Amino acid sequence: MTTIRTAWTVSVGDELLTGESLDTHGRTIAGRLAAMGVGVVGHAVVGDDRRALAARIRTALAEADLLIVTGGLGPTLDDITREALADAIETPWEEDPAGVEHVERWFRSTGREMPPGNRRQAFRPRGSRLLHNAQGTAPGILGTAGDAAYVALPGPPREMQPMLEDALAVLLPDARPRPTRLVRAFGIGESTAAARIESLMERTRELPVATTVSDSIVTARIRGTSAADETAVEALAEEVRRAWSPYAFDDGATGLAAVVGTRCESLGLAVATAESCTGGLLGGELTAVPGSSGWYRGGVVAYENRRKIEDLDVPARLVESFGAVSAEVAGAMADGVRTRTGAELGISTTGVAGPGGGTEEKPVGTVWIGVSDDRGTVTRCFRFSGDRALIRRRTVLAAMQIVRFRLDDVEAPLLWEYSA
Ligand code: AMP
Ligand code: MG
Repeated sequence: MTTIRTAWTVSVGDELLTGESLDTHGRTIAGRLAAMGVGVVGHAVVGDDRRALAARIRTALAEADLLIVTGGLGPTLDDITREALADAIETPWEEDPAGVEHVERWFRSTGREMPPGNRRQAFRPRGSRLLHNAQGTAPGILGTAGDAAYVALPGPPREMQPMLEDALAVLLPDARPRPTRLVRAFGIGESTAAARIESLMERTRELPVATTVSDSIVTARIRGTSAADETAVEALAEEVRRAWSPYAFDDGATGLAAVVGTRCESLGLAVATAESCTGGLLGGELTAVPGSSGWYRGGVVAYENRRKIEDLDVPARLVESFGAVSAEVAGAMADGVRTRTGAELGISTTGVAGPGGGTEEKPVGTVWIGVSDDRGTVTRCFRFSGDRALIRRRTVLAAMQIVRFRLDDVEAPLLWEYSA
């Protein structure tokens, strides 16, 4: 078998073609392969159609060093990946005794007899091997056809993902993950963010930095071509962090809430939330971080005005004079939750998430965020664009960034901030 540099991926299932289910495997596998230095040269979604799949497998095996097929390994007649593989590679089939035992044992462990149809799941082309499935009945298949290798994996993500790792360990035993850094920023527009790192993004550079925006967060991706680039990749990431300061935060999987948590932990203080327009989303985001009990006291969802007054001690006259969406009420909510919980820092949200309820003075998207700590109370006004869900999401992100800025004693305007 030649060194694997290129791959084709094929997702199988009628439900993926009709739009009933989203094909996430293409993306998951492409990401894993890219990290191992293997380039995906093609991806296709094919229905539960034996002839169409066999044709696709044939061309894919001719075009790439590796083919990964997912789905269609179930026991029912619409699961045709095994048959399509056999047609495409023209190799006789045999039953794998260890495979039969696996399927039988799986059924016994759930207190059932193996239905005869499931025996098919232990078939594989001669010369190939089965891949163990610790989460389900369907074994995977790993083999070679000519110069190319092929892998078939079951469709359910929790079965597919660990088996993909096993297959990659067999196929790419020496592959070292390419060094990768993601630097993220919130509160700065993508064009501003890109302008700050323009020279690093030039395509002629050896390791160009690429940016994307998703969930209102700008991400810079720096990826080395081999393990030897580790130092260079980290140095570039540091340049991006500096250029995007104070908006940048690290790193990939954890997100802004975890960054807030780590900062609170190192300072030995706790936060509490008083939420109106976000209805608990901010508390939800913070408590999604494992270990948040160490630095998050709790919060109040004060949606109705009476709850702001009775549960957060917001003076009724403030609500009457300035309205619930105001600097005065946001500040009093943050003060109230801080006092009631004994947290060092209180944070509040109150705004017009829409689609109704906007006025000329306070249109949909107007949000006040308040922070209260022993240095005083600060309120900031935003005019977020987007629909109800996006306005609430952006409020949560802005609130977390404001907490961070407060803890780090940073003053910087955030995107969508509005001064009347
Ligand atoms: P199968 O192995 O074809 O029986 O697939 C079983 C289930 O796995 C399907 O009903 C889907 O919910 C899921 N699945 C299959 N292929 C994909 C895919 N490409 N992306 C995400 N989920 C999938
Ligand atoms: Mg299927």
